[in-house]
Amino acid sequence: MKISVMGTGYVGLVTGTCFADLGNDVICADIDEKKIATLKRGESPIYEPRLIEMMRMNADMGRLRFTTDIEEAVRASEVIFVAVGTPPGPDGEADLSQVHAVAEAVGKAMDGYRVVVNKSTVPVGTGFSVKKTIAENQPKKIDFDVVSNPEFLREGSAIQDFMYPDRVVIGCQDHKAGDIIAELYAPLDTDIIITDILSAELIKYASNAFLALKISYINEIANICDLVGADIKEVVNGVGKDSRINPAFFGAGIGYGGSCFPKDTTALIDIAKRAGYDMKTVRAAVDVNDKQRAMLVSRMDGIMGGLKGKKIAVWGLSFKPNTDDLRESPAFDLINLLKDKGADVTAYDPITSGAAKELLSGVTIVEDAYDALEGADSLVVATDWNMFKEAELSRMKGLMARPLVFDGRNIYDPEKLRAAGFEYYGVGRK
Ligand code: NAD
Repeated sequence: MKISVMGTGYVGLVTGTCFADLGNDVICADIDEKKIATLKRGESPIYEPRLIEMMRMNADMGRLRFTTDIEEAVRASEVIFVAVGTPPGPDGEADLSQVHAVAEAVGKAMDGYRVVVNKSTVPVGTGFSVKKTIAENQPKKIDFDVVSNPEFLREGSAIQDFMYPDRVVIGCQDHKAGDIIAELYAPLDTDIIITDILSAELIKYASNAFLALKISYINEIANICDLVGADIKEVVNGVGKDSRINPAFFGAGIGYGGSCFPKDTTALIDIAKRAGYDMKTVRAAVDVNDKQRAMLVSRMDGIMGGLKGKKIAVWGLSFKPNTDDLRESPAFDLINLLKDKGADVTAYDPITSGAAKELLSGVTIVEDAYDALEGADSLVVATDWNMFKEAELSRMKGLMARPLVFDGRNIYDPEKLRAAGFEYYGVGRK
């Protein structure tokens, strides 16, 4: 099939590359000229495991092209995926300006039947407003359909998630359009759920908000562990083994971040509010998450006898491991709170150190994890990259002024660290 993907960010680039790999003829379009120039050189603007190899292979085979010519992309394909950003607006609502800009461009340029597939995470009802925008911008009436196909991939395992999804959700008004998209996904061995557009749009928010709830819930249980002396790993093991609950997205730490959970939770609260409903559970999840970093900093403050002038090493800047995405990263929140208390912060991240330098002022960013530890009064682990799990404990201890570890992601075994001479504090760890 001929496919165009509008928006070549984390979702658009992975979608385009994976559909090309499945044998389709794909054009990825974006208004960001720098991004498209990078992609045309065979380089990737983002870090995502396995992406660059797959991208280059499919580009070499002529199945994957990149362009800034939106009109060309609309005319080239019958199926047009929309994968532009839907950032939060001032009141937490989703900002749909990028989605409607694409709809306008599609309406103006289409010269035959098109299926416009919305992959961006959008409020319930957007499928219909996109349909209206396309129709209003058509120079002459041409038949088209709008389909909702929310994306569930996770950064850091995006290719794997796209190729082996738990399910594919397709929301449509017209089964002809839904069937075209279902056929595209047919090579994947998964359940294809065909439903109406409104339900498909809500499925995405309901999924992300539930995962956010799960994380905030276990973080509260971890906070109780700290107060009563229980161990969160033991608790999660016992609770997560219940098949009704399951252990995924059930790790305690300094809370969730990234480009999806924070904005999708506030957007769902806004969707509910506009419909006249107060979404209390999700509001509580957001509130707990907002406080989780401050709780660790306050604990550090107490244990270290104040943070003013203290040298603190932070390991990890991306919002999770195996991605270079810094959007809404809990590490940034944590660093800003430490700086507010007068701490002297040195940070390291295996992928994002360069980009972080431009975003974080008043923080020393180093290129080697161990350099961050030199003379440090404590280390905080903010992102659970594997390399931190395998760090050399004796080398770490030798470099630090005080061998004190605050493990914001619970990656270490407390007993092992204590046996190696560290003072150790996890989140909810004994
Ligand atoms: P992103 O910011 O990485 O990419 C969006 C791209 O769209 C950018 O490259 C931007 O230049 C481009 N763009 C903006 N306006 C355009 C226009 N008019 N025409 C063409 N291109 C345009 O965003 P993302 O992280 O890929 O997310 C995209 C959508 O997918 C969002 O709605 C997000 O909530 C959803 N989503 C994201 C993830 C994720 O893990 N990142 C997962 C599932 C769903």
